[in-house]
Amino acid sequence: MKKSTATRASAADFLPRRRDLHSLEKAAKSCEGCPLFANATQTVFGAGPADARAVFVGEQPGDVEDRQGEPFVGPAGRLLDQMFAAAGIDREEIYVTNAVKHFKWKPAGKRRLHAKPSSREIMACRPWLEAELEEIEPEVLVCLGATAAQSLFGNSFKLTQCRGQPFASDWAEWTLATYHPSAVLRAMNVEGGDEIRRTFAADLKLIAARLRHD
Ligand code: SF4
Repeated sequence: MKKSTATRASAADFLPRRRDLHSLEKAAKSCEGCPLFANATQTVFGAGPADARAVFVGEQPGDVEDRQGEPFVGPAGRLLDQMFAAAGIDREEIYVTNAVKHFKWKPAGKRRLHAKPSSREIMACRPWLEAELEEIEPEVLVCLGATAAQSLFGNSFKLTQCRGQPFASDWAEWTLATYHPSAVLRAMNVEGGDEIRRTFAADLKLIAARLRHD
């Protein structure tokens, strides 16, 4: 059955009374707070322990995540896992999520290519991200890419200027913005792109060091 594209103003209309992660994830399955639900397979909510000390926020689910219903399980997620392992970060102990919970894509033949969510879509989805952060109260918050950072800190946040510099935010006493692993993957195929991978690896080591600090 074709999904209706008539939507409400934002995810706020779909937030449940109970705010534990299980209730949030269940409620998010029927979110129609922006048009993105219509062309996606399913809502991809965050995953990880409710008592995680660190929350990592990406942009949106990709093609594989959309099909499997789990965040960071596609190529970028595999790279992230490898680089977590190299930095000494245990993915089982952290919570990973996205600023936008539905996959936005454009057709390219039989493929579905990533399409960047608009500011309006990012803002419409922000209540889910805020609810996750309010429930988890992480000590460490990592924004992977500009979309995640701008979702939480506004469009004036410039990743190019602020990357790799920890700061205190409303969401966590230690907050850091770095590259999205998809950007690292793309850069690996470009001459000189190894620099981005090295910088990302250094940021992950900084995060690992902060997580070792009690
Ligand atoms: S992208 Fe977010 S706000 Fe839009 S329908 Fe999906 S869950 Fe709701």
